[in-house]
Amino acid sequence: MSSQPQLVIIGAGPAGMAAASVVNELNINAVVLDDQPTSGGQIYRAIGSSSETLRGLLGTSYTKGKALLPIDNASSSVKWVHGASVWQVDQDGTVYYTCGEGSTSVKANHVIVATGAQERPMPFPGWTLPGVMTAGAVQIALKSSGLVPDGKVVLAGSGPLLYLLAIQLLKAGGELSALVDTTPRSNGVRSITSLLGMLQAGELLRDGIGLLFEMRKRKIKRYRYATDLEAMGDSQLAGLRFNSQGRKHELDCSILAIHNGVVPNVQISRQLGLMHDWHAVQRCWHPQRHDITQTELPWLQIAGDGGGIYGAEASKLQGELAAYSVATILQADNISAISTKKERTLKALLPLQSARPFIDKLYAPSAEFLIPSDDTIVCRCEEVTAGDIRQFVEMGCAGPNQTKAFGRPGMGPCQGRYCGLTVSEIIAKERSVSMQEVGYYRIRPPIKPIMLAELAALPEDN
Ligand SMILES: Cc1cc2nc3c(=O)[nH]c(=O)nc-3n(C[C@H](O)[C@H](O)[C@H](O)COP(=O)(O)OP(=O)(O)OC[C@H]3O[C@@H](n4cnc5c(N)ncnc54)[C@H](O)[C@@H]3O)c2cc1C
Repeated sequence: MSSQPQLVIIGAGPAGMAAASVVNELNINAVVLDDQPTSGGQIYRAIGSSSETLRGLLGTSYTKGKALLPIDNASSSVKWVHGASVWQVDQDGTVYYTCGEGSTSVKANHVIVATGAQERPMPFPGWTLPGVMTAGAVQIALKSSGLVPDGKVVLAGSGPLLYLLAIQLLKAGGELSALVDTTPRSNGVRSITSLLGMLQAGELLRDGIGLLFEMRKRKIKRYRYATDLEAMGDSQLAGLRFNSQGRKHELDCSILAIHNGVVPNVQISRQLGLMHDWHAVQRCWHPQRHDITQTELPWLQIAGDGGGIYGAEASKLQGELAAYSVATILQADNISAISTKKERTLKALLPLQSARPFIDKLYAPSAEFLIPSDDTIVCRCEEVTAGDIRQFVEMGCAGPNQTKAFGRPGMGPCQGRYCGLTVSEIIAKERSVSMQEVGYYRIRPPIKPIMLAELAALPEDN
């Protein structure tokens, strides 16, 4: 393959892998950059290297990712660079990344960003205690190393991932005490109006019912409509206190795995200054796109959960669509065959997208974790509380970027990933204005922490 690729794909989850597979078939030169050691993304993490036993207990929703694994051989037109963390994308499409041996850049005429989702922050009193971690982090340890937490585990929060993890943990020999579900009671009624769309996505519905059935079969203790969560302990987690259906509860545990749904990872689209819309039900930002994956920059497509939360299967199909869109430009003489395939993919995608309003309404996050109480830390990196943010607003601070000057939220190593949504939600509530008006942090490069030495190692012509 030539030294300058025609396409750069950032992310090797379902969307990135599917895009790579399409361009490989069409013999388009591409480079895939992903910060994980192997392909798979979040859902299929380590699928190529995990043991047969581990794959068995993670279930079919995990093992089906194997079919997406790339063929990386000499005749492939796609080059895979793992352990490559992208920290800047320029307006001309130049992509800067670090891969352990210093930083470098790559420039192509087209870029597909497929950087997926991240877990929504779930701030509540005590959530920064050692022993409290996200459900995603527990699942990452399980998928990548077969590790199961030692001692009693409590899962708390909302969303299908929590239920999936409960079953995966039990199968892996974990000691699961209970699942504390914070999904508000009113969500069930609100979601009914969108049930029809869900019924059209047969497999998704079957998976959901299957999870509930398995929970019941395994007699997993479940507390529903939980509120007033508080992680107990002085310097280490000792347990969880909460209310459920009018009763107070306290559960001992050594690990509390929390989860409140997933939101698009918008670091690259924000760093590029793209326009974003606020999704009032999912309560997160989406980069503006048309034709499903095309952004306002002609050379840039965004595919998968990084553009809006639709799940793994839809992400895969969006990855294919983005690749076909690039191919129609690069291979104008092959346009009719490409368009036929694109149409087929689009047809498969629509029912999956129509299921989303039901899932979004059913698992809409509880207000308690969107706008936390005063003494709750919201920016973990700089230890800024919700009360601090409210005080900044009282002093005249109008938006999230100004709060940085008042108290440094969003300026730590995570670059606002874990406080951005919460800080904006608090400001919008305090000022009684919309999230669109308040906006989000201005994201500047480097979007991932890099060493000065790595910057210095950039070749002179960068
Ligand atoms: C922690 C977590 C666990 C999940 N587990 C499940 C599950 O078990 N089952 C399920 O149905 N859904 C799960 N989901 C949802 C699921 O991830 C998505 O629906 C689906 O994987 C989206 O596919 P994608 O290709 O858009 O992104 P992803 O699968 O997230 O892939 C994105 C890839 O891009 C990489 N990346 C991100 N930023 C950069 C960067 N700056 N530089 C280089 N690489 C980068 C990531 O490391 C990742 O490998 C999970 C989500 C999260 C956040």
